[in-house]
Amino acid sequence: MTLTVLLYGFLAGAAVVLGGVLVVVRKEWTARFQEYLLALSAGFLLSLVFVELVPEALHAVGAEAPLYMLAGYAILHLFEHTIVGHLHFGEETHSEIMLSSVASYSTFAGLCIHAFFDGFAIAVGLQFDFLLGLLIFIAVILHKIPEGLTIASVMLAARHRRSTAFIASIVVGAATFGGAAGGLMLGGIDERLVGTAFAFSAGIATYVGASDLIPEINHSKNRIIPVLVFVGMILFYLGKVALGTVAGVHH
Ligand SMILES: [Zn+2]
Ligand SMILES: [Zn+2]
Repeated sequence: MTLTVLLYGFLAGAAVVLGGVLVVVRKEWTARFQEYLLALSAGFLLSLVFVELVPEALHAVGAEAPLYMLAGYAILHLFEHTIVGHLHFGEETHSEIMLSSVASYSTFAGLCIHAFFDGFAIAVGLQFDFLLGLLIFIAVILHKIPEGLTIASVMLAARHRRSTAFIASIVVGAATFGGAAGGLMLGGIDERLVGTAFAFSAGIATYVGASDLIPEINHSKNRIIPVLVFVGMILFYLGKVALGTVAGVHH
């Protein structure tokens, strides 16, 4: 299990670096492409939250579960939009105000914390229920390339060097892996903690889906993008059925 969790954490981190590379080498199609992934990830994540994570967390932790969910939601809100002043997913398009160096570093810090909790949710999910963990992994990896694109384009908008933008995407990828390792350690300390952390992760997933991704989709000029949220929901259903059949589990 240890190796499996670390492998999924690594893959999620590697997807961030891939997104960073695409920006650094100037692939024009990435900006268009990333909106599709954000929309699919949002639909997938929110279905996962409502259909699986919330009921399973209530089942595992009982009456305290909603409090942990709220805590998960609140901690990302604190780090991404309370302490940090400027953070949104997708390509940095506010070059007209020219992002300051300070703003780019605070965005970077916010994204590192976001990425840490992405990895954390994957690791906790896999330990809680392997199939659920896989579904969390799919939901997360769908927006990992856009995450790399986000941080690299923020760094470039603040006139950092290309090498700095690339390194920033590596650090956000490493934070994802660090979160997976952290979630794994937590499970090793006390098995009961996994249920609590799972409920917390349900709150994290809610924030990522509803507050990080949906606003980006609503801003899109491409009218196909909102439709893809529904495709993400269908994808979730198909993924759940497919994994359930392969794994032969009760879900
Ligand atoms: Zn911006
Ligand atoms: Zn993320």
